Amino acid sequence: MAVPKPSSGKGPHDRALNLPNALQIGKVRGIPIRLHWTFLLVLPFFAVLMGSSYFTPTPGRLDQLDGPALGWGAALAVTLFACVTLHELSHSLVALRYGIKVRSITLLPIGGVSQMEEMPKEPRREFLVSLAGPLTNFVLAAPILAWGYLGGVPDIAPRFGDFVRLVGSLNLVLGAFNLFLPAFPMDGGRILRAILASKMGLLKATHYAASAGRALAFAMAIFGLFSPTGGGFFLLIIALFIYMGATEEERAVQVNHTLGDLRVRDVMTSSPVILRPEDSLEDVFRIMVESKHVGFPVVDAMGRVVGFLGLKELAGIDQARFATTPVRLVMRPQVPTVAPAALATDALRAMGNDGADYLVVLDHGQLAGLLSKTDLTRVVSILAVRGGGKAEDAAL
Ligand code: ZN
Repeated sequence: MAVPKPSSGKGPHDRALNLPNALQIGKVRGIPIRLHWTFLLVLPFFAVLMGSSYFTPTPGRLDQLDGPALGWGAALAVTLFACVTLHELSHSLVALRYGIKVRSITLLPIGGVSQMEEMPKEPRREFLVSLAGPLTNFVLAAPILAWGYLGGVPDIAPRFGDFVRLVGSLNLVLGAFNLFLPAFPMDGGRILRAILASKMGLLKATHYAASAGRALAFAMAIFGLFSPTGGGFFLLIIALFIYMGATEEERAVQVNHTLGDLRVRDVMTSSPVILRPEDSLEDVFRIMVESKHVGFPVVDAMGRVVGFLGLKELAGIDQARFATTPVRLVMRPQVPTVAPAALATDALRAMGNDGADYLVVLDHGQLAGLLSKTDLTRVVSILAVRGGGKAEDAAL
């Protein structure tokens, strides 16, 4: 299906994509290309579906599916997913040109997903990044169809010509499905948002595009429910994916709008409670109860931030060792940091990308404050109410 997705870090499938159960199959321009394990699970199903749909004497007849038909079905499924990978890669390469980091491309049973750190803010750039994918399918389809229909396909195996023509025409379908269906956050929906955003601004444009996306997802789900073939199930999953993606991205845009150009220093906790590397875990629990905080920068005698300790690090440690274990043995030595002058929206996105609940605010290497996701959630709720909205609209 091919959705370029900025990893806003706010939805369940963002985290699902970060799971280690995706197998890396290659790397292009530093972008890891990965197969999700569910993909391997459904590949035999796709081979049967495509083999029986296109390579049996009577299309759709499962009982006519023999070895060669199954083989062609498998070859078609694998080739199409290779085309989906090229589609995603073209989104990613255009995004890279605009200086946007692409974390990975993951192949799922319903298509590919490019995980970008963000989508371009300028409508023209989002338009071009989104257009690149479907355009790749059209560019692939043209020579393959010409080869398949105008002759010249060598007779290397029976049905090879059919295979070539199917690869060509299914690329046309893939390109058209992505380009012309304005189902935000799919390509067509992003293109719609980019066009609207150049006229009415990002907030309104996203609202309209996301509403269109949800309506189309609804229609797709109904269609999928009543579809007699196995493909209906996938349509249902795609519909769910679009519905959740549209809602999640609309919320992210609302939150960014609410935060506006607030800086990290405006929302951080200045002079946060700190821990020393030599404090015991017993001390940590006492400090937690007294301060009601659950995450602390660890600062050494020279005033340098050397780590971070939160509830996550304390889970699973034997109670008997609390009094004798120093903080430095269990703290996280790698601390995600941010500058006080950074935009709060950028800090929020960084938290999403790193899966971090806290950012340590460093000013020229010195501890200036602590920013927690909870702090940001409260600020967004306050600003949303002040702006006339409802507090729950602002949930991160
Ligand atoms: Zn795409």
